[in-house]
This record gives sequence, C-alpha cells and structure tokens, in this order.
Amino acid sequence: QFPFGRRLPCDIYWHGVSFHDNDIFSGQVNKFPGMTEMVRKITLSRAVRTMQDLFPLEYNFYPRSWILPEEFSLFVDEVRMMKDGDPGWKPTFIVKPDGGCQGDGIYLIKDPSDIRLTGSIQSRPAVVQEYICKPLLVDKLKFDIRLYVLLKSLEPLEIYIAKDGLSRFCTEPYQEPTLKNLHQVFMHLTNYSLNIHSGNFIHSDSVSTGSKRTFSSILCRLSSRGADVKKLWSDIISLVIKTIIALTPELKVYYQSDIPAGKPGPTCFQILGFDILLMKNLKPMLLEVNANPSMRIEHEQELSPGVFGNVPSPVDEEVKVAVIRDTLRLVDPQKKK
Ligand code: ADP
Repeated sequence: QFPFGRRLPCDIYWHGVSFHDNDIFSGQVNKFPGMTEMVRKITLSRAVRTMQDLFPLEYNFYPRSWILPEEFSLFVDEVRMMKDGDPGWKPTFIVKPDGGCQGDGIYLIKDPSDIRLTGSIQSRPAVVQEYICKPLLVDKLKFDIRLYVLLKSLEPLEIYIAKDGLSRFCTEPYQEPTLKNLHQVFMHLTNYSLNIHSGNFIHSDSVSTGSKRTFSSILCRLSSRGADVKKLWSDIISLVIKTIIALTPELKVYYQSDIPAGKPGPTCFQILGFDILLMKNLKPMLLEVNANPSMRIEHEQELSPGVFGNVPSPVDEEVKVAVIRDTLRLVDPQKKK
C-alpha cells in the first residue's frame, strides 16, 4: 500500500478509485481512463440511447430513459403521447440523481408532474426511467444481480464475465407500485446499503438464503422450477457485451488522450460491477454499471448493544475472492499462476 505514492516500476498497479496517474510507463493499471465518467447515470444513458436509435431491438435491455432537466419537456410529451396511444398504460417512473449511488436521492413517481423540479434538479441533474413493475420474485421479494465483468483490453476487445455474482434482496414483500406504496424503499429498491437498515435484513452463513445470496443459488432454484437457465445466461452475456460496445468509442478517446499510441505507457484492465434486474419473464434488464464495485468481504454487525465490528461475510467472500484471483491470473504478465 502506497498512500503517499510509489516510484518503483511494478507489473500491476491497483488503484482504489480511478485512473489518476500520468507517470506510469509500463505494466498494467486496474482502471481505464474515463471509465468513472462513462458509467455515470447520464453518460451511460446517452451512450445506450445512441445505440438504441441505431439498433432498437438489440438494445431493448435498457429501460426507456430521459435526462433531466434538459429533456423534461420531451419526457412529458412522450409520456402523454404514449398514454393517448394506449389509455390502459399505467406507468411508474424512477428518478435517479446523476452520480448518485446506494439508492441516494432515488424516488418513484406515477406522473411526470410529480418530478421535484425545484432548485435541486437544476443543481443535480438526474435520469428518469421507466420503472420495471413486474420483476422476477424469489420468496415474494424483489432482488437484483451484481455481476463482475473484467474488461481486459479495449483493443482488441476482451471481456470476461465471472460465473458467479451476488443477488441482493429487498426486505419487504413486493407489490406492484401504487400511490400508497411508492415510498416504501425496502419493497422497491434492492440496494444493500438501504436494506441493511431494515429490521428484516437477514445475514446468513449460507450462500443460498438470507438477504444476500450467490447468483448461482438463484439459478439453481430457477432451474429446478424448469426455467431455461442457459438462455438466461446467454441473454446476460449479450447484455454485457452490447453495453461495453456502447461505451467503447468514448473510452478509446479517453485512452488515446491519456496514453497516446507510440509513447511508453501502461495497459489497462478493469473490473466492472453490472447491476441487472430480471423481469418476471426472465428477461435481464441493465440498471447500471459500477466502475468501482465494492470488494469488501466483511460486513458490519452489532456485536454487543451499541458496539459495531466487522465480521466475515461468507457470500461476499465466495464471489469476490474468485473475481480478484481470476483477474490476477488473467492479467499476470508472466503467467506465474
Ligand atoms: P444506485 O446507483 O443509487 O444504486 P440504481 O440505478 O442501481 O442506483 O437504482 C437503485 C435500485 O433501484 C436498484 O438496485 C433497483 O432495485 C431499483 N431500480 C433502479 N432502476 C429501476 C428500474 N428502471 N425499474 C425497477 N427498479 C429499478
């Protein structure tokens, strides 16, 4: 660990947050220049929308989204037109502040006029998105999937997807959104950081029960119910590849400006966290991409009244240790295993 910088050349540089080094001339860095900017909610929505305009059917894994405040009128007009075209359509929308994380500032609305267009939206841009009302439920609960993806190289494009990920559960039984339950975050938002504060959060020593489970344990459940798990995996793989393809052109611009071709510089790789929601019909939908996914393998627990400490989390350990180990194996320059 080099909190004040390090000057001996290394094979692999592991930055905590983002790419911020101009004086590395060899080796490999675990972040791409510009990735943090590219996966912010607004930039990601823009990049995916460009592809949706070109290939609408290929990119139908991302909910319809509008950027606020600039597309507010477009949002109002399009929703009105869609409602006129289909009077039975009773949508819900989710508003997410740009650059937010852990569910921060997120709220659900039924009508565009419910957007809080007061000072805050001007100072804090956001994405408003169609809310997926019919997610797949397990034990009556909504959950999402965190998958770890290694972008090993941009040119040629090399992508690896970890075979196991995490499933993060809500802590209140799910009901389709109504004006009465819109505010119930433990029912609608799957963020670990929110649900951990619900009295119903279950820490489990087993990877297939509790409020955080392995994705493979969910696949086992689905497979035993007769679901086509192979098709699901192949849809998830397409979603990941297509999302990265949407980000690639701008990532290359950042790359060429930070590490110009012909000059000595490092190569880059990066572990990304993909957040995916499964719809009731098992279609995977992209929620967001995280450039700096948490690699913690402990969680906080109240050890005695008022005393908190870190204890090992078997489910995080099972998934994340494998991700880091396999990443190091894949980028190991001398194949030292
Ligand atoms: P954050 O970065 O704050 O976690 P996300 O985009 O991941 O923001 O959204 C937070 C949570 O809200 C997700 O984990 C998911 O449970 C829920 N969510 C987000 N977008 C949608 C959507 N379009 N439809 C249904 N649920 C959503």
